[in-house]
Amino acid sequence: MDLSDFTGYVGVDIGGQSVRVGTLRDGELVVRDFATPSEYAPAAEQIVALARELAGGTPRGLGIGSPGPLDWRTGHLLWTPNIPWKDVHYPRLGDTLGCPVHVDNDANVAGLAEATLGAGRGHQIVSGFTLGTGIGFFTIMGGHIYHGRLDVEGGHQLIDPNGPRCGCGARGCLEAFASASAIEARTGKKPSEIDDPEFWKEIGRYLAWGITNINVLVCPDVVVLAGGMIQRGPMLFTPLLEYVQQFNCVLPPPTVKVAELGHQAGIYGAIVLARQGHGT
Ligand SMILES: [Zn+2]
Repeated sequence: MDLSDFTGYVGVDIGGQSVRVGTLRDGELVVRDFATPSEYAPAAEQIVALARELAGGTPRGLGIGSPGPLDWRTGHLLWTPNIPWKDVHYPRLGDTLGCPVHVDNDANVAGLAEATLGAGRGHQIVSGFTLGTGIGFFTIMGGHIYHGRLDVEGGHQLIDPNGPRCGCGARGCLEAFASASAIEARTGKKPSEIDDPEFWKEIGRYLAWGITNINVLVCPDVVVLAGGMIQRGPMLFTPLLEYVQQFNCVLPPPTVKVAELGHQAGIYGAIVLARQGHGT
């Protein structure tokens, strides 16, 4: 994809610590940021000012990646665990700026970036997991986010009905076995503090079950793994890839790749969303 296609489009990456506003200028990412205020109104004012500055006038479109739960069709954020904003209507930014606004949850937006500009570029169907505090999931089809009826939640696929209780209320979700918070609850240690190869072999096995389920249900060209846990490198990926080969029987295993855009995925994805609009 030619990065010059994105000139004039502005992305916004909303996080618990900071709000990042960015654009691509001659193919180069230009980002401004500010600390996330406790109220939405001052954040909206800064987003509008920075969007105008970065676009050199009225943006051609604004894309927003936000923590959820939110309604991506209306851009309405009801509430979110790590920011004290309530009842936010992001599309009103477009009334002020005079441009279209597209909003989606942060995992989908980061996935959109990896699928179009990162590890999944050049492929038609890209699924992936973000391995962090929770386990986010995305599927990008033909450069657009796939939502299903509401949104897909591959981190909450059932791995073992007798497994540990998940934050969602069910038992035995993938997230209840292999997320950073589940690992910490089980071992008392952060994933970065665990160096036992047998432990990572077990986590690799859970994730390989998750990838195998996605392969038979979605059959993507590529599965991208993102998030903080990918920093464990070969200790996690060597057993994981062996299990992926072993578990996939009915279909050939998908290609598994590590995310390439790191912490910039959110802002790149918001810029891509600004231009491409919503998926289905
Ligand atoms: Zn769950």
